[in-house]
Amino acid sequence: MKLLLLAAAALAGAGLSLPSPPPPPIKAWPIPYGQKRKHEMAQYSQRHYGEGTWRLRHPRVIVEHMAQSGSAAAVRNTFARDVPDPELHELPNVCSHFVVADSGRIFRLVNLRTRCRHTVGLNWTAIGIEHVGYSDGDVLGDRRQLGASLRLTQWLRCRFRIKVRDVIGHAESLTSPYHRERIPSLRRQTHGDWRHASMQVYRQKLRRFGPCPR
Ligand SMILES: [Zn+2]
Repeated sequence: MKLLLLAAAALAGAGLSLPSPPPPPIKAWPIPYGQKRKHEMAQYSQRHYGEGTWRLRHPRVIVEHMAQSGSAAAVRNTFARDVPDPELHELPNVCSHFVVADSGRIFRLVNLRTRCRHTVGLNWTAIGIEHVGYSDGDVLGDRRQLGASLRLTQWLRCRFRIKVRDVIGHAESLTSPYHRERIPSLRRQTHGDWRHASMQVYRQKLRRFGPCPR
């Protein structure tokens, strides 16, 4: 893999088109997301975006998160129970599509055709990726976790033709051109995880993979 990446980087430097990035190893570890939760997600989408669907179609944004949690299992446990979330007290409970452990293992918690509540204003079109740990620096300083995160993000963004600039940190949500929110009191709501300075580093590393194949 290292050789492949080096070869890809060399090709990118030469301005040649690149092969499609292979998906990184991903283990499916789905949280329960049955009819009740889907119905609640459709109602949430109606309230916040004016469209009564739980389906995620043509995602345009990838949002990177810090889970504030010490293990992938703890992250999954938090999302698995469908109870009102402690911050906004809404149903369905919050979730993200993926979690990247500090070992570099990647777990898929929710399939990519289903909306998750992870970023106010963007849940109608955004894929959410959680990282085990407590600060952006934890991931940027962990070669295995960062490498897995970048490979996952590159594969997703090429699969859906998402621009590098639309790979954002949660803390950048309010400046996304895709941000929309019908409830006035939530229009400025965001979180502090993956600040702009961290994401500048992250996006710079992502660009080193080169462009997606046409
Ligand atoms: Zn977040």
